[in-house]
Amino acid sequence: MPIRPEERARYPKDWPMVSWHIRFERAAGQCECLGECGHDHGGRCAARHGEPHPVTGSKVVLTTAHRDHTPEHCAYDNLFAACQRCHLAYDADRHRENAARTRAARRRAGLT
Ligand SMILES: [Zn+2]
Ligand SMILES: [Zn+2]
Repeated sequence: MPIRPEERARYPKDWPMVSWHIRFERAAGQCECLGECGHDHGGRCAARHGEPHPVTGSKVVLTTAHRDHTPEHCAYDNLFAACQRCHLAYDADRHRENAARTRAARRRAGLT
């Protein structure tokens, strides 16, 4: 997923290098998702950078995802290479959580 402008400042200066290392050295150009995204792709996702996606057929552009969704946390074990499909699905979980939190807060505040 592209980095939103308001989040760009939260990434470390060497993020492009860190991200490159994760995607092309550690992951060797293949999505590292083992099902964290919620899709069952039978083990590691087979999507490879620059090749047609095994499910969607569109060209894969690997991204680097944060397991805890926190851009400042760039320890290698908090990062994994993810194809668009896995990254979107993985982040969608967070969006659902945020929405649930917002709803709960609104309820507590008596707004709904
Ligand atoms: Zn994937
Ligand atoms: Zn996945």
